Amino acid sequence: MTLFEKIINRQVPAEIVWENEECLAFRDIHPQAPVHILVIPKKNISHIGAVQEEDAVLLGKLLLAATQIAKKEGIAKTGFRLVINCGSDGGETVPHLHIHVLGGRALQWPPG
Ligand code: AMP
Repeated sequence: MTLFEKIINRQVPAEIVWENEECLAFRDIHPQAPVHILVIPKKNISHIGAVQEEDAVLLGKLLLAATQIAKKEGIAKTGFRLVINCGSDGGETVPHLHIHVLGGRALQWPPG
């Protein structure tokens, strides 16, 4: 079982900011910006490269949740970034699909 599944099951504590039947959002334990939240599906999907046609609606809901959380966190007007790391070169360290919601400061580009 992955770390994020344990957070979904409340086996590992996390600062949960939003939840519904299909998705969960919680603060990143090592924040890279004043606001750094992870939005995940409760469905076990290891990475964005593993999604199927049947996940299309769920993916839309995750993106909608991420933008609503950005509004709730007060970073929608100043701007924010959504990041999905995939696999080892993408920098994915937890093999459960997650969207990083980052904001509250000017973020640099390109990524390292
Ligand atoms: P990634 O590198 O894209 O796979 O992102 C995984 C993220 O999970 C990292 O930003 C970590 O800081 C974060 N993380 C790891 N353990 C925890 C935890 N127990 N609670 C919240 N976030 C975590």
